Amino acid sequence: MDMNDTKRILLQALEFHGHRCWASVAGVRVGLAALRELGVKRSGGGQLHAVVEIGEDHGGMCFADGVQYVTGCTLGKGNMSKQPLGKLAVTLIEKKTNRALRIGYKPTLQKQIGESAFMSKRGQGIEPDDIPESEQMELVDLVWNAPESDVLTIEKIFQFDRDWIPETMGFVPCAACHELTARAYLRVVGDKHVCIPCSGYDR
Ligand SMILES: [Zn+2]
Ligand SMILES: [Zn+2]
Repeated sequence: MDMNDTKRILLQALEFHGHRCWASVAGVRVGLAALRELGVKRSGGGQLHAVVEIGEDHGGMCFADGVQYVTGCTLGKGNMSKQPLGKLAVTLIEKKTNRALRIGYKPTLQKQIGESAFMSKRGQGIEPDDIPESEQMELVDLVWNAPESDVLTIEKIFQFDRDWIPETMGFVPCAACHELTARAYLRVVGDKHVCIPCSGYDR
């Protein structure tokens, strides 16, 4: 991939993400480095799995969107999962070999980021997409242009220890509300297969 390709991917990822922020750019850089180091291409299907270490309700969760866009490991396809540690790091796994690699985002630029116009407006509760584009791009360029060794910690390739369960195919209408429900989520009540809300069970 040359520079033009990677820049195009960055711009597409930001378009998908909805605004331009440092954390999504960090995710793009981590994703690109992970693909390159593992020698794999973007996962159009379930070839790769990504474990992101973001948690819930903290700044920087945008990181996961960068990773999703670049690696093709998405929550929708089910080949992304969370290990909620509140960190900007990802482990990317090639499922057929279980070769895996963890990459983390370093704190090098955080002082500069913290002092930026973008972050001071975020601190005032202004939504990222309501901040002027030039101020959004200031941080995008900062994270994008930094030398890789300044911003990423690339660990050694290791064997990931997991047996991958094939996904269960097929949807069946609930016998009570008739909404399509994935087979594994049907519950048996009397002689009927019903969805969880119709079953009265918690899960
Ligand atoms: Zn964002
Ligand atoms: Zn139902």
